[in-house]
Amino acid sequence: MREPTVEDIAEKPEESHSANTAYRVLYDGQCEICQACVSWLRALDHENTTVCLSISAEVLSTVDSRLGMDECLRQLHVVTPKGEIFAGWDAVACLASLFPSTWLIGAVGRQFPFRNVGRMLYGFVARNRYSLSKCRGGACRVAKPEAVRRQSRLGAFWSCYMLGFCIRLPLVLWAAIRAAAQRTSIFARTYHKRLNLLDGKLTILFLNGPLPNTVPVLFGELFTTVLYDGIAIDPGSPKMRRSLARHLRLKPRITKVVATHAHEEHVGNLNWLSDLTGAPVYVSKMTARFLTPFKKLPWVRAAIIGQPPNLEQPYHLLDETVDTDSGSLQVIPTPGHCDDHIVLYDPKEKVLLAGDAFMGSYFATPNPDVDSRKWLVSLERLMKLDIEILVEGHGHIHTLRTDIPDFPGVVIRQDPKAAVAEKLDYLRWLREQIEVGFQEGLPVRVIEASCFPWGRRTSWESCATDECIRLLSLGHFSRTELVRSFVRTDGDQLPTVYEVRMTGGGDIH
Ligand SMILES: [Zn+2]
Repeated sequence: MREPTVEDIAEKPEESHSANTAYRVLYDGQCEICQACVSWLRALDHENTTVCLSISAEVLSTVDSRLGMDECLRQLHVVTPKGEIFAGWDAVACLASLFPSTWLIGAVGRQFPFRNVGRMLYGFVARNRYSLSKCRGGACRVAKPEAVRRQSRLGAFWSCYMLGFCIRLPLVLWAAIRAAAQRTSIFARTYHKRLNLLDGKLTILFLNGPLPNTVPVLFGELFTTVLYDGIAIDPGSPKMRRSLARHLRLKPRITKVVATHAHEEHVGNLNWLSDLTGAPVYVSKMTARFLTPFKKLPWVRAAIIGQPPNLEQPYHLLDETVDTDSGSLQVIPTPGHCDDHIVLYDPKEKVLLAGDAFMGSYFATPNPDVDSRKWLVSLERLMKLDIEILVEGHGHIHTLRTDIPDFPGVVIRQDPKAAVAEKLDYLRWLREQIEVGFQEGLPVRVIEASCFPWGRRTSWESCATDECIRLLSLGHFSRTELVRSFVRTDGDQLPTVYEVRMTGGGDIH
């Protein structure tokens, strides 16, 4: 669910206009059908032989002066590296012949009578695409949602959104299979593993347990305890205790036990580990409050992860810094993922031990206690830090530093600040999309869909996984919660999205 960002051509129409070695594909960026076809092209084109360009007057004049706006809006145009121009069905056949899996379609599609049939079918779709694809899955700024709603009571929106989905359905399924294979591979490679980094200063202990293991396989979230300079951070849940005990046989030096926040997979062994090692427990004041007593978990989470015991005395409250073996870490409050979240930051080594305060740039299925507005503020705070290594609580390390060795799927070669900035941009975009949606009085379901226009970011790529998470968590973790996470109040008096849906309401202000 958190693969590295997929290059999004639909969002970067300006890329390499002048690349004459590539087939330049001119498509209507306002049309859901055209966008879906671009998704297909992207999936087929492993060698980057094509460049997809959304039509604009500037693009057309840069690519080829023979191209006319009206003609290009009417049908697909392809300009070959040799400067030939193909339009409509002939353009489709030209593109199909570029890739091994569609080569036959390209070859046959150019011959009589298939060529004539192809042109006829293409002509029919091209003539009718405006009535099929009216508003681009909610990202549309051309067709006014007000007007669309008046005319068709959101029928146009859904027909367009579903059309984009149906055209991409084989791709969605394929992406789901690939993501599942990738998750399984990462799980297998981290099973009972330990990752020693920075000459032993940083160690990631991967935690397992028969039932907890379903989470990394199905959702891609690994369970870890991070050891940093004598501090054990987030020692897992009771169902991961045996796995943690296995790691402790090597007797790593542990002088303090710290929790970043009171979620069940992080706080189930605080007192246990403290008793075992003699290292005192440190938690924030709010985390201590959440842990005494620990609220009763929904049964699915209790069954799979395990209900943590209440926090017992003695424990210490975290201050602004916490001493380590060789220095100290700053303790920075970072509410958002949940209200009590803190991160630990080593300014000397430029390491951020982020817990769940990051969760990838595009995390679309938050838990019900996420407050995205608070998260935005926390991320802005993190942007002020100098970060070279960002260690997440669920097994991902973002860094460009060469003293951290490669570990595909775990070590992500990305500048941590760029990753945080990307998340900030995404959350700001979502905030705007959701605010506009509520202002326009759109139903919650439509706002949710409008936050995931198919052609943008990883909407279709992660769609199957996100929906699987929704289903298996019985709605606790979902794209719907993402919308809701922007409209929380401190008292949390708002109805849940499900309650809103059940009562048929649309406005949860
Ligand atoms: Zn968490």
